[in-house]
Amino acid sequence: MSILIYTEHQDGKFKKNSLEAISYGVAIATQTGTDAYALVAGSTSATLSDLGNYGVKKVFHVATDNNNLSDTKFMSALVAQVAQEQQTDLVIFSNTLSAKGIAPRVAVKLKAGMISGAVDLPDTSNGFIVKKNVFSGKAVTEIKVLTANKVITLNANAFEVKETGGSAEIINLTPTLPVSSITITAVNKTAGEIPLAEAERVISGGRGLKGPENWGMIEELAKLTGAATACSRAVADAHWRPHHEHVGQTGLAISPNLYFAVGISGAIQHLAGVNRSKTIVVINKDPEAPFFKAADYGIVGDAFEVMPKIIQAVKELG
Ligand SMILES: Cc1cc2nc3c(=O)[nH]c(=O)nc-3n(C[C@H](O)[C@H](O)[C@H](O)COP(=O)(O)OP(=O)(O)OC[C@H]3O[C@@H](n4cnc5c(N)ncnc54)[C@H](O)[C@@H]3O)c2cc1C
Repeated sequence: MSILIYTEHQDGKFKKNSLEAISYGVAIATQTGTDAYALVAGSTSATLSDLGNYGVKKVFHVATDNNNLSDTKFMSALVAQVAQEQQTDLVIFSNTLSAKGIAPRVAVKLKAGMISGAVDLPDTSNGFIVKKNVFSGKAVTEIKVLTANKVITLNANAFEVKETGGSAEIINLTPTLPVSSITITAVNKTAGEIPLAEAERVISGGRGLKGPENWGMIEELAKLTGAATACSRAVADAHWRPHHEHVGQTGLAISPNLYFAVGISGAIQHLAGVNRSKTIVVINKDPEAPFFKAADYGIVGDAFEVMPKIIQAVKELG
C-alpha cells in the first residue's frame, strides 16, 4: 500500500492541518512499510521540496489555476487521476471544508471505502481499522475498511505535526483534467484573524456576556493568547457576533487544544461542536450550568469580575 496525501495551501503557505495530514500519512507508511507522497495542486510560494521535512519522499505537483482548487468536481478528478496513475491505494485529506467536498467524490471514483474525521492512526495488525468520533463526539467507533482503495479525512488537531528532516523530490504531473465548471468572481477573506477551524486556542463567549459591547475582554484574551474567537448560536442569532464564529451542532465543529468558554450554558447542541477540544475551561456564574460536566477546569463566578483578573494574570506572565 502506498499513500497519497492531498496537501492544501493558502496564501502561499501550507496550512497546519495539511502538515498534520502529511505526518499522519507518513506514520501509516512507517507502520505498514510503504511510502507516502504529497500531492500539491496550483501555485504556491512555499518550497515544495521542504515537505520532505515532514517525511514524504516525493511531492507530486499539478500546475493549475488556483481558482480551480475551490471546484470540488475538478479537484476530485485531479486527485483520483493522480492516485490511479501513481497506484497509491490510500488517499488522505485533512478534514477541511474543501476536503469535505472533494474526498467523497474521490472515494466514488476510486471505488474506495471512506472514513471521514479519523482521530487516530489505523490499526493495521488485522485488516485496516480506523477510529472516528460519533454521536457528536460522545462516543468513538472503530470501522474496518474492507476495500482495496481507501480514503481518510483526518480531523484537525487529531495528530501532531512531526518534523523528520529531509527534502522531497518534486515530480511535475500533467493529468488530463476536465474544464472547471465554476467561475470565481470574487474572494472575500476575513483579514487578520486566526481561522477558527484550525486554531489551537479558542476564546468563546455566550449570552452571559449580556451584549456585543462586552466582547472587548474576549478579544483581548484571544489576542494575548494567540487564540481565535468563537461564540454560541444564541449570540450569533442575536447578531452580537458574525455567524462564522458560531460553534456547535449547527455551526462549526472544532477541536482546539484549549476551548475557553465564558458565559455559555453548555447546551448539548453547543457541546456537539466543541467537546473534542483537548482542554475545556468554563467560566459561569451558575454552578449548575451543564458545561461544568464537560469542563476540565471550571470557575464559578461572574465573567465581568473573573475575566479582568485572568487578563491581568496573562499579561503578568508576559
Ligand atoms: C436544533 C438546534 C440546534 C442548535 N445548534 C446550536 C449550535 O450549533 N451552537 C450553539 O451554541 N447552540 C445551538 N443551539 C442552541 C442551544 O440549545 C442553546 O440555546 C444555546 O447554546 C445557548 O447559548 P448560550 O449558552 O450562550 O446562552 P444561555 O443559554 O442564555 O446561557 C447563558 C449562560 O451564561 C451564564 N451567565 C449569565 N451571566 C453570567 C455572568 N455574568 N458571568 C458568567 N456566566 C454568566 C448563565 O448562567 C448561562 O449558563 C441549537 C438549538 C437547537 C434546537
